[in-house]
Amino acid sequence: TYAVTGATGHLGRLAVDALLRRGVPARNVFALVRDPGRADDLAALGVGVREADYDRPETLGPALEGIERLLLVSSPTAGNRIEQHSNVIRAADAADVGLVVYTSILHADETQNALAPEHAATEDVLQGSGLPFAVARNGWYVENYTGRLDEYLSRGEIVGAAGDGRVSAATRADFAEAAVSLLTGDIADQQGYWELGGEAFSMADLAKTISEVTGQEVVYRDLPPEELTDSLRAAGMDEDTAGFVTALELSTARGELETDSPALENLLGRAPTSLADAVRAARL
Ligand code: NDP
Repeated sequence: TYAVTGATGHLGRLAVDALLRRGVPARNVFALVRDPGRADDLAALGVGVREADYDRPETLGPALEGIERLLLVSSPTAGNRIEQHSNVIRAADAADVGLVVYTSILHADETQNALAPEHAATEDVLQGSGLPFAVARNGWYVENYTGRLDEYLSRGEIVGAAGDGRVSAATRADFAEAAVSLLTGDIADQQGYWELGGEAFSMADLAKTISEVTGQEVVYRDLPPEELTDSLRAAGMDEDTAGFVTALELSTARGELETDSPALENLLGRAPTSLADAVRAARL
């Protein structure tokens, strides 16, 4: 039996789909969701739906009852994720779950990326739990960019402070499939840390690919960090968010979102979806 947390979210839903596509019977798949009232489409797949709120440990024990393998999709609420993830890991331990796969960030243990400390701390909790685990250290979602395609096209430019930094992004669907590959595989082979990313591209490469795919010219304009922060604030972003976005750009500039690991391709058994195909799909 398999369970996926955050199953009403993008990645979790794709992971449930990937489990079923892999031939796992729906009766052996449990979608763990914060709000079962929003899970009708999951229930329609025939999978079990259980309430599991990272902030409410009392929901987690029952949710994990009888579960052999768990995909813990990291929480989206930065700031209290260590406690949230620890709640799930503690419950997994109590339920004797046989494998936990956790979605972390590339290079969690050595990057300066501002999002990494909570992931690294979660990895430590997992390691300390004694549970068998695999950590999927995911790169950026390519959807972080393709989700802004209309904006890029209407402005004719991508504005950032990432310099020549390259991003080994991949689609959520590919990360979900890789996580499921870790979840369903031979535990002895899967345990440990996996740096996952697709083919690396710079922001200039992204602009070029968008131009080629759409036939509309888009260029990349690199700004000094302070100017990027100022322009985001001028566009209405609050100071903290603007600073945070700029910090993520600088992480990209330092190469922290890049990996040359072949692990994603190996887990998928094929090349990850290309940037051009992801841009094409986003246009449809
Ligand atoms: P989504 O925001 O689509 O999904 C997050 C899921 O977490 C939702 O199902 C949400 O539930 C659930 N959730 C939120 N709070 C709780 C809680 N207290 N208890 C239980 N579940 C909760 O994110 P994605 O699927 O796109 O990404 C998955 C994770 O990956 C993110 O949560 C984040 O940690 C990370 N991420 C990675 C990025 C990258 O580029 N690699 C970019 C953005 C995020 P509900 O449906 O009820 O809201």
